Parts: sequence; structure tokens; C-alpha cells
Amino acid sequence: MADYDYDIGVIGGGAAGLTVAAGASQLGVKTLLIEKEEKLGGDCLHYGCVPSKTLIKSASVYHKMRMAEHYGLPKVDLPPVDFSQVAARIQSVIDTIQVHDSEERFCGLGVKVEYGEAAFVDDHVVEFGGKCVSAKFWLIATGSEPVGPPIPGLEEVGYWTNKDIFSLQKLPKSLIVIGGGPIGCEMAQAFSRLGSEVRILQRNCQLLSVEDKDMAEVVQAAFVKEGIGLDLCTKTQEVRKVDGGVEVVYERDGETHVIQADKLLVAAGRKPNVEELKLDNAGVEFDKRGVKVDNRLRTSQKHIFAAGDVIGKYQFTHAAGYEGGIVISNAVFRLPRKVDYTWLPWCTYTEPELASVGMNEKAAKKNGIEYTVWQENFMDNDRAQAEGATAGKIKLVLNKKEKPLGVQIVGPHAGELAAEWVAALNAKIGLSFMASAVHPYPTVSEINKRVAGKVLSKKLFSDKVRKTLGFIFDYKGRACTLD
Ligand SMILES: Cc1cc2nc3c(=O)[nH]c(=O)nc-3n(C[C@H](O)[C@H](O)[C@H](O)COP(=O)(O)OP(=O)(O)OC[C@H]3O[C@@H](n4cnc5c(N)ncnc54)[C@H](O)[C@@H]3O)c2cc1C
Repeated sequence: MADYDYDIGVIGGGAAGLTVAAGASQLGVKTLLIEKEEKLGGDCLHYGCVPSKTLIKSASVYHKMRMAEHYGLPKVDLPPVDFSQVAARIQSVIDTIQVHDSEERFCGLGVKVEYGEAAFVDDHVVEFGGKCVSAKFWLIATGSEPVGPPIPGLEEVGYWTNKDIFSLQKLPKSLIVIGGGPIGCEMAQAFSRLGSEVRILQRNCQLLSVEDKDMAEVVQAAFVKEGIGLDLCTKTQEVRKVDGGVEVVYERDGETHVIQADKLLVAAGRKPNVEELKLDNAGVEFDKRGVKVDNRLRTSQKHIFAAGDVIGKYQFTHAAGYEGGIVISNAVFRLPRKVDYTWLPWCTYTEPELASVGMNEKAAKKNGIEYTVWQENFMDNDRAQAEGATAGKIKLVLNKKEKPLGVQIVGPHAGELAAEWVAALNAKIGLSFMASAVHPYPTVSEINKRVAGKVLSKKLFSDKVRKTLGFIFDYKGRACTLD
């Protein structure tokens, strides 16, 4: 039997790689982790979730300060934002969280951490920084990176991506954001709230094109109200440098439009980090979407696994973490466990937030599933009224048997509200439990109970029930009617 240096080698120290490295080593597996950057943590910590949510918070506070009068408070005359201070706060949050993802912590768990760009020599041996190491199992968890769309002039003019924007020292006066997906939308609103004049250029005719149109429209309406320019249904034709900034030429309905700004942020797609890995040497198949895996996350070489953004499925930190757990089951416990994304949630952290669990209407239609929709508006939630955050709704999508296919929420704390559905749907708890569980008053979470109750109340408050009760107990019916 071959003798390998390690039981498992992990390439990439982001969410997927760290999950597997920490889990495997604590189970007594001799584990190597190779990371090409100087620090562990990956995109989420350094250029993704953590800096973006920190920036969003600063922008939200500044926005609320400007809105003081709407809360019955004195109008505040605010000085402009010094972005270097915002960037310093972002870095301090990253530094604090970095401790969880430090080499010291992982070494303490038993993981050998090495730095360098890894590439396969063969299906068991990987080379980095002039060294070769072998492992019985490998995990490819190299993540993804932003990619600019093929727009003439884009590469020559230059543009920002998520790798640039969190360490800026100066707020751009104006910004064009190419791409109206989650990253584009979150960053557009944050920069607009901090004081930049922002326009979003989006090919699709709605923002957040994966989401149902009616849900995305709530976010769009909020953006328009806050003064963010939306150029939807557009085909970007060219990017040009002009005096002191950039110019973008786009076409809509056969007409050509030209817009200008100081800076350009491109958030229009990502590509898997596969090029440097020399996957051919290991016989691992991949395409432009990423490393090909089966439902146990095994690549075309059964002892080499892949997880996280690099497999091109759901590009979220919690998806990467979940997939890491599947790899541990299959590679360490040798238990055949398959991925199941049925109730994988996600949330776009705009204000209002837009969260999704399970199928939305678009997905149900695409899968040819008959469905009904039950809705409840935040306008009818007492806490939302008190908070002054009444835009939005919850939408329950049910199948023919009135079992949930999915839940969509656009409104205050949508991501937090989705968590209750994630637990209930995974535990296969029926709507009657959600409807009868006492929720604290006044919380926005009551909207979860209310929408579930709506489905059941049509049966409870039916003519049939009224007639049966009347028949048994001799009730006399209505005491008042409006003429
Ligand atoms: C702006 C932004 C905001 C986001 N916000 C959210 C959010 O709110 N919630 C959410 O769930 N997700 C969010 N995401 C997505 C999230 O960041 C990713 O899904 C997550 O980081 C994927 O984890 P991963 O382990 O697959 O890859 P990564 O975290 O990218 O880790 C991959 C690691 O592999 C290393 N690597 C690459 N190639 C090699 C090599 N050849 N050798 C050695 N090391 C290598 C990289 O340096 C990196 O450290 C956001 C992303 C962005 C860009």
C-alpha cells in the first residue's frame, strides 16, 4: 500500500477548505492545508462577505443619520464621508475575525498550514513553492475570482472589482456598477448611501435576476427612491476613458445611450480558480463553470474532492461550509453522503433585504410544478410600522398538496426571518406548527406565523366549519354587518 505524506491535503484556505481541514484534523486525520495568499480566510473574509457587510453597516448608519427627520428627530447637517475611516473600520473587523482563521488556530487543531500556489504533479502529488507533497485524498477548494465581461475597451480603461473597493482611501464622486446581481446591488446601495452618485447597468430587465420579479421590484423601488440610477434591459457596447473618468456606451430598445462617471465597478460574473492547478496532470475534469463533481463531491478521480465556489454551483460561504461537511462524511468517515440543496437559503443584504429558501415562482414554473402563492405584507406588521420599514412582503409558494416549495422574503431582516423557515423546512415541520407557535410581540418574525396562518385560516374560517359549529352548539351567527 502506498505511503503518503498526509491522509488528506486541502488546497485553498477559504470557507470550504477551512471547514474540511478543521473537521478532518480533529478526527485524527493527518491534514495539510495549502494557501496561496499570506493569510487564511479566503474571499469571504478578505474581499467578500465580511468587508461588504461591514461597509453596508457604515452606509446604513450614515443613511439613517441623514433620515433623522423621518424618525421625529432634528435634521442633522452631516459632513461628507471620509472613506479612509470606513476602510479602516472594515480592516479592523477583518483583523478581529482573522484570529478564527489564523495559522495558529489551525495548527492548534492539528493542521499543517503551508503557503504557496499549489499545482498537481499527478493524482496524489501536489507541488507548491518548489516542494512536492503526497496525500491519500485531496480537496480542491480554490474558490472563484471576478471576471470582466467581454466589453470592448473594458480592460484598457481599467475597473474596480470586489478586490479593490474595500480598501479605497477616497469615496468616488460617481460610480457606474456593471452588473445588478447580489454583489452589484449591495455595493451600489452602500456607495450611494455614503455619497457617491451611482448608476447600475444591468443586462436583464430586473435586478437580482434569479429572484421573482415582484420581489426584486421592491428592492428596485427602494433604489429609485434613494436616487440610484437603474439602466435595465441594456446591452453594454463599449467602455471609453474620458477626461477624469469613464464613459459607458449601451444600447436599449435600439437606442444608444452614453453615461459617464468617475469610476467603474464590475460585478458581472465570476470564474472558478482552476487554471493554476494543472488539473490535467491529475486527470481531474473541469469546464468553464468549474471542477466537475458528482453528488458526493468526488471529481473524476474518486479520491480527489472539490467544494465551494470552484465547483460553480451555489457561490455562498454557507454552501461552501455545507459542502465541506459532505466531503468529511465521504472522505473521512467513508460514508456515502450526497449533497441536497433543496432548502439552501441565501440573502441579498440590500435594504430591504431579499432572502430565499427553496423554490420561488420562477423555479416552480421552470420545473413545471403547479403551485399557489400566499403573501403577507410588512405594512401589516406592527414592528415594521414602528421601525419605519414597511416595504416588502413574505411569499409562501406551496405545491398542490399545500406543502411548501419555498419561501421568499423581501423586507426588514429578511435573512434572519428566513432562518426560522430553514429550520422548519429541514425538520419537515408542518405549517400548522409555524402558525400556532407563539412568536414574541412585536417582532417582524410574526410575519412568518401570519403567512402560515393565512393558509390554514381559509379552512378554519370556512362556511363548512361555521355551519357544523352552529349545528352542534346552536350558535346564532353574525352580530353585526356593514351596510
Ligand atoms: C463582495 C462579495 C460579497 C459576498 N457576500 C456573501 C455573503 O454575504 N454571504 C455568503 O454566503 N457569501 C458571500 N459571498 C460569496 C463567498 O465569499 C464565497 O462563496 C466563499 O468565499 C467561497 O468559499 P470558498 O472556500 O469556495 O473559496 P474562497 O473563500 O475564495 O477560498 C479559496 C482560497 O483558495 C486559495 N487558492 C486559490 N488558488 C490556489 C492555489 N492554486 N493554491 C493554493 N491556494 C489557492 C485562495 O487564495 C483562497 O484563499 C460574497 C462574495 C463577494 C465577492
